[in-house]
Amino acid sequence: GLLLATAGIEEVEKNEAGIRPQRLEDYIGQKDLKEVLKIAIAAAKSRSEAMDHLLLYGPPGLGKTTMSLILATEMGVNCKITAAPALERPRDITGILINLKPGDILFIDEIHRLNRMTEELLYPAMEDCRLDVTIGKGQTARTRSIPLPPFTLVGATTKVGSLTSPLRDRFGLIQRLRFYELDELTLIVQRTADLLKVTVTQEGAEEIARRARGTPRIANRLLRRVRDYAQVKKFEEIDRALAATALDLFNVDAMGLDWTDRLVLSAMIENFKGGPVGLEAVAAATGEDAKTIEEVYEPYLLQIGFLNRTPRGRVATEAAYKHLGFFPFSGNA
Ligand code: ADP
Repeated sequence: GLLLATAGIEEVEKNEAGIRPQRLEDYIGQKDLKEVLKIAIAAAKSRSEAMDHLLLYGPPGLGKTTMSLILATEMGVNCKITAAPALERPRDITGILINLKPGDILFIDEIHRLNRMTEELLYPAMEDCRLDVTIGKGQTARTRSIPLPPFTLVGATTKVGSLTSPLRDRFGLIQRLRFYELDELTLIVQRTADLLKVTVTQEGAEEIARRARGTPRIANRLLRRVRDYAQVKKFEEIDRALAATALDLFNVDAMGLDWTDRLVLSAMIENFKGGPVGLEAVAAATGEDAKTIEEVYEPYLLQIGFLNRTPRGRVATEAAYKHLGFFPFSGNA
């Protein structure tokens, strides 16, 4: 028999929308966040108001966009999705704001990257539902205020410390997303497997989850890689051994580290005696972008205790030495 029913798979593949949970009750994990938002939703609904502005922060792939879409569904409004790099000119943000309907959610990803002009247009919009635009140029220029419908801004960021305080202060709710526990990620793998019509055993799902760096997006990506492997090798179900073999082949090791994680750590160990070493030096030694290392790779390495941040720079820990097979430990962690 075939591992997969083929109907519908293409649509799902192309679009993350197919596997995103749609309702709060389908959103796995992040218990505290869900609790806080349940109250915010109920309160806003009972007052027939837009929900308070919400800032979500945490590493990529933990479910910030998904949560914003869920909030819109729960509130019965639309969610407009954009990202700071797409809001370069003042008219980019004004165009979006003017077209919002009452109660709508505006999701801005990477909100710490907004330019000053755009940010300053957002202040009165967030605070007083007002857009201050300048009409004309030079001597004849004047400012006009345009009323906006009440709306909810959901900002997402990987670097909450990089937000200016006037912007941060305008969010009524500021919530952190945590890395997911193994049992939560296992549920996410099983849920996605069901949606993709793939059969995976409990241990198979757990093996994929274990290598997913606490991150749903990665769990779903790894599941797809294992599914490809299973399909080509004509296995009907994904069990633990199959998941492990496939993921080894794709260079995702037993701790979920990929090629870049290992490159970053081994560069620190081999070129800098395990540190302390500055971010820029690690970036130069690996040819990776410093921001990407800091925002995408480091959070999980810190979380699993392979890396420490000290005032003098990054340090590879003994656990990292062991995992990568560097003996004996000679670092400074
Ligand atoms: P972020 O915006 O934080 O980068 P996303 O919201 O895009 O992350 O989530 C990435 C993927 O992970 C989505 O496609 C979604 O299907 C899945 N996902 C995220 N959080 C959850 C969750 N709590 N339960 C189930 N799936 C999730």
